[in-house]
Parts: sequence; C-alpha cells; structure tokens
Amino acid sequence: MSKAHFGLIGLGVMGENLVLNAERNGFSSVVYNRTYAKTEEFLKGLGSDKAIQGAKDLQDFVDKLERPRRILMMIKAGSAIDAVIEQISPYLQEGDLLIDGGNSEFRDTERRVAELESKSFGYIGMGVSGGAKGALEGPSMMPGGTKTSYEAIESLVCKMAAQVEDGPCVTYIGPGGSGHFVKTVHNGIEYGIEQILAEAYDLMKRVGGMTGTQMADVLAQWNATEELSSYLVEITEVCLRTKDPDDGSDLVEKIMDQAGQKGTGLWTVVSALELGASVPTIYASLNGRVMSSMKPQRITAEQILHGSAIKPFDLGSSADGMAPLMDAVVLSCMASYAQGMELLRIASAEYNYNLHLPSIAQIWKGGCIIRSRLLKRIQDAFNADPQLSNLLIDPWFAEQVNRRLPGLAKVVAGAAEAGIPVPCFSSTLDYINSYRTARLPQNLVQAMRDCFGSHTYQRVDKEGTFHTEWLD
Ligand code: NAP
Repeated sequence: MSKAHFGLIGLGVMGENLVLNAERNGFSSVVYNRTYAKTEEFLKGLGSDKAIQGAKDLQDFVDKLERPRRILMMIKAGSAIDAVIEQISPYLQEGDLLIDGGNSEFRDTERRVAELESKSFGYIGMGVSGGAKGALEGPSMMPGGTKTSYEAIESLVCKMAAQVEDGPCVTYIGPGGSGHFVKTVHNGIEYGIEQILAEAYDLMKRVGGMTGTQMADVLAQWNATEELSSYLVEITEVCLRTKDPDDGSDLVEKIMDQAGQKGTGLWTVVSALELGASVPTIYASLNGRVMSSMKPQRITAEQILHGSAIKPFDLGSSADGMAPLMDAVVLSCMASYAQGMELLRIASAEYNYNLHLPSIAQIWKGGCIIRSRLLKRIQDAFNADPQLSNLLIDPWFAEQVNRRLPGLAKVVAGAAEAGIPVPCFSSTLDYINSYRTARLPQNLVQAMRDCFGSHTYQRVDKEGTFHTEWLD
C-alpha cells in the first residue's frame, strides 16, 4: 500500500472531523488513537470507504506515512502532548513535522518548538477554531513555529481551511508559540461576545418580558446588520427559538445557569495583566462565568441581599431592533475585538512575534467561532493604519462609538436601577469612557502613593521627578 500523505493522532470530535476534511481534500491519511477500539470504530463508521488507514501503535503509524511526515496531534492539551511527543520521537526522522492542533498554553508551545527544532524535527503549534462542524467543513487555523515548518504544511492547511473572498482562513502567524497565543486571544474575544449576548437576553427577558421566540426575532434582525452579522448571533437566535420537546416551552429556560471556564479565557486575562493590556470586557465575561458557577452561594445570597425591585426601562421596541440594547451589544462586541487586537499588538512587540493584525482579522472571517462581518472592517482598519493603537479610534469605529455611546449608557444606567447585572456592558462603558478621557483621576493616586511610600510623581507643568513631605 502506498504511504499516506498525512497522519492524525487523536480521534476525539475534532480529530475525526479534521482527518475527514484532509482526506476529502485529497490527502490520504493514517490515524492513531491511544485507545485502539476508537480507531476501529472510526474506520468502520465515518472513516470507512475512504483513503484512511488505521495504525495500532506509533511505530506502525509512522511507517505508514510518506516523508517528511506531517502529523497532527488533536488530543487533550497539557501533559498528554508531552507524553505523545516522548512516545513518538524515537520513530521520527530529520525533517518530520509534528503539529499540535489543540488548545495548548502558548508557553508550553514555545518550549516544545525549541526542543523539537533542536532535534531537527519541525514543530507547529496551531490553534484551530470552528468546533466539530468547522473541523469537517473548513476551520480557521492559526499555525505558529518556524517559517520552514509552516511551508511544509502550507498546501495541506490551505486546502483544509475555510475559504473566504480573499483566501483561505489560515496564514503563517509567527514564531514559537504565537499560533497558540493568537488562538487564546480568539477564545478570549469569544468569551466576551457570548457573555454580551447573554446579558442582552437577560434584559429582554427580565425587563422586556419577552419570550424566546420574540427574542430570537430580535437576534434575527441584528444578524442582518453589518455590525452584528456573525456566527454567534446566528446560533444565539437558534438557541432562543428552540423548544423543549417535552412540553414545548423555551428549552434555554431549562438549562442550568452555570458556565464553566478553563484554559484559554483565563490565559487571555492573565496574559493581558502580565503585559499591561486593558481587557475589561473580556475579563468581565470570565468573571461572569466564575460568578455563575457559585450557584449555591447565589441561592443563599438572594434571600439575604435585597437589591432594588426590577423596574422597567426603555430597551427600544422590536420594531426598531431594540435600538439602545443593540447599541450596547454592538459597542461591547467592538470593545471585545478592540481589546483582543490591542493585546495581540502589545504581545507581538513584547514576544517578537511580528504579528500581522490585518491577516489575523482575515483568517477569522470564516470557519471560526468569532467570525463576523465586522472582521472585514477590522481588517480594513489595520490595513489602513498598521500602527493603529486601538481599533475604536479608526474613523469607522469612532463614528459607531460616538453614535452608540448614549444608548449603551442608557442600558447600563437602566440595568443598574433595575438591579440586573450587566458586567460586559458596564465594563465596556467604563472602558470607553476611560479611554476617551485625557485626564483621569490617577493624579490623586500618585499623590497618595507619594504620601505613604515616597514613590515620587511627575508634574504636568514641569519636567522632573518630585516628592512632597505631605504629612509634615
Ligand atoms: P478531547 O476530548 O480534548 O481529547 C480526546 C483525545 O485525546 C482522545 O483521542 C484521547 O485518547 C486523547 N488523549 C487524551 N489523553 C491522552 C494521552 N495522555 N495520550 C494520548 N492521547 C490522549 O478531544 P477534542 O474535543 O477533539 O479536542 C482536541 C483538542 O482540540 C483539545 O486540545 C481541545 O481543547 C481542542 N479544541 C477543541 C474544540 C472542540 O470544539 N471540541 C475546538 C477547538 C479546539 P483516548 O481515546 O485514548 O482517550
């Protein structure tokens, strides 16, 4: 039998769909899974009658691949990746290439790239987004490592990726762990948008008294606009419209209000804190999930802490797409993207990743979970000014901010009066108000720090470093 073009380790939901994608695009494949029963099951089921063969062990797997070998690991991130690298390394030869397509921590990838490249193997850390359907039909892929290693997989990933009007949703991201860093930030933005839509739902339900179908109709209107047309708005409409087959009521109301968080959302926020990047909307979404997980405590506290009773306020009418609420959603989504891009810009300088922000916006336009029409505007903004310090000051985005800020403020004020938490909306309002304020009150913070700790301060009216004996 002739040697296969491509090898896949890990037949989880992503792995099996990615290998079907590769095979459909003309890359004969060999698959290996730690638990062989899964390989057998796959070859009898989805993988049957295809140019896909199975391997019982890693020696057999490697022997069945043409050289240089291109091997995608689609397994649990963390120690499993190190374990598989250790197990497979004795069978690899110079020039063979391992790709980690899971959600690995970018510093782990930095280390693995350095280790594997020093042994003359190639190593690519590649973020993959799109879920099971994206993996099968065309995901967005974010590969990082050496340029030479990328070139060895370019023909494969360009065919497998989602295609948009200006090319495949994959590009060489940069060296080391940059691919996984960009995927991490992608997921941080995703956390933000999901929480933003959840806040809009909460207000429509609790203030507007709307049913799932009525809310879904609003989402459908939003999805028809340039500002909000996106995969996440589209699936939110579906979630709100879906009925429980048991009794025909809105299924979403039967779902436990606890959202998990791990890995990428947390890493986005930790990286931002380390790098001095401001990501309050994204942080608010992470904290929203943390608060949601405290279900027993919230049940107790609800009996003890009495906020104001829910007061109705004007969210707009469904005839005008709930205009103020839409303002809040649009600006908060824009803030999530702006904060994510800002984090990428700062990380790129700090880690010498040399990230090309327009290309990153381009590969997020299709296949991935945060795909949206807005990404074309983001791509254009960074193409027009590669040094753009913040997306929100690009002329098109600035006009949106200036027009929609009163609506966002109205929604945040109304939610505060009604005692309904809107962490992403309120963080976005503070973010924009802080960013557009030339003089903030941190002069007083500096005075206090100098007063208690002689930390010194700079003055606005003369050069130099100053200290005052405040307490004398
Ligand atoms: P998963 O449930 O994260 O992982 C399952 C696979 O990992 C199985 O093939 C399992 O083998 C293998 N595995 C676990 N520990 C192993 C070890 N120590 N040695 C060898 N193999 C091991 O599967 P997934 O959802 O397809 O995700 C794969 C990766 O893609 C993860 O990093 C995930 O975070 C990332 N990702 C997932 C999605 C998604 O929508 N699911 C989207 C993007 C990225 P056994 O069958 O033997 O247990």
